[in-house]
Amino acid sequence: MKQIALYGKGGIGKSTTAANLSAALAGENLDILQIGCDPKHDSTRMLMHGTWIPTVLDLIRERGDENITVDDVVHRGFGGVRCVEAGGPEPGIGCAGRGIIATFQLLERLDALKGDVIVYDVLGDVVCGGFAMPMREGYAQEVYLVTSGELMSIYAANNIAKAIARLSRRVRSRCTLGGVICNAKNIEGEQELVEEFARRINSRLIAYIPRSRVVQVAELQKQTVVEYAPESDQAAVYQELARTIQRNETTSIPTPLEMDELESFALEFVQV
Ligand code: ADP
Ligand code: SF4
Ligand code: MG
Repeated sequence: MKQIALYGKGGIGKSTTAANLSAALAGENLDILQIGCDPKHDSTRMLMHGTWIPTVLDLIRERGDENITVDDVVHRGFGGVRCVEAGGPEPGIGCAGRGIIATFQLLERLDALKGDVIVYDVLGDVVCGGFAMPMREGYAQEVYLVTSGELMSIYAANNIAKAIARLSRRVRSRCTLGGVICNAKNIEGEQELVEEFARRINSRLIAYIPRSRVVQVAELQKQTVVEYAPESDQAAVYQELARTIQRNETTSIPTPLEMDELESFALEFVQV
């Protein structure tokens, strides 16, 4: 079983990429479990045709975790992908990270943490102990950083790389960096910039996902691109990403950049 996690800045395209990746993997006849670990709880919405599935944390709050069954928390979406949303704390109180732990513990107890591939979709703006939980506790074993060429998303990716480097020294955590995914914002020289960033942190660019209108059109139809436009170039990009991740055996311990290195790196590319 492969356990992969997509980490990146909020709004960078993690859920879109994760849902299309899961849909494409399911198309290869694999049993896929996608777990949304972002309090925004919209990771699996396109796989579920727009339905907001109940979050594990809401169910635990309503019923207590003793009275929850697999069918309450695991919902089958497009291609048979099993979808789970961890959910978030009540606004103003509670810890999102603790919610992620509670979700994983419940799924383990229900024997639902299984399949050919588990895809964790995790927010990476703050790499606090909470959001690092899937990496810390040995769930997320292969992390993929989703970034564009914008400095703030590279900054977030670099912080996640710092967390991976630190956690890789722990026995319990088995996390390594699988690669960097560029989800383009159409910045000049973006692919080269992200490629070079990946190289400098001891990783590699494993996919370049172009910005495409079909993503929004599919979203309006409440579907992934893989379902809505399976013959499109964009769907082919997600299918290639799925094959690359499925075959990937080259992971690394990242060498994150210091802040001044990151700033001078960004300057090099702006000046080009
Ligand atoms: P995140 O999960 O990182 O917060 P989302 O996946 O929700 O981000 O994406 C944010 C927005 O960006 C969505 O409206 C989505 O349709 C759009 N988007 C993501 N990737 C692409 C892309 N490659 N081309 C066009 N729009 C995209
Ligand atoms: Fe939020 Fe992270 Fe602190 Fe938990 S550990 S309260 S998720 S910042
Ligand atoms: Mg998301």
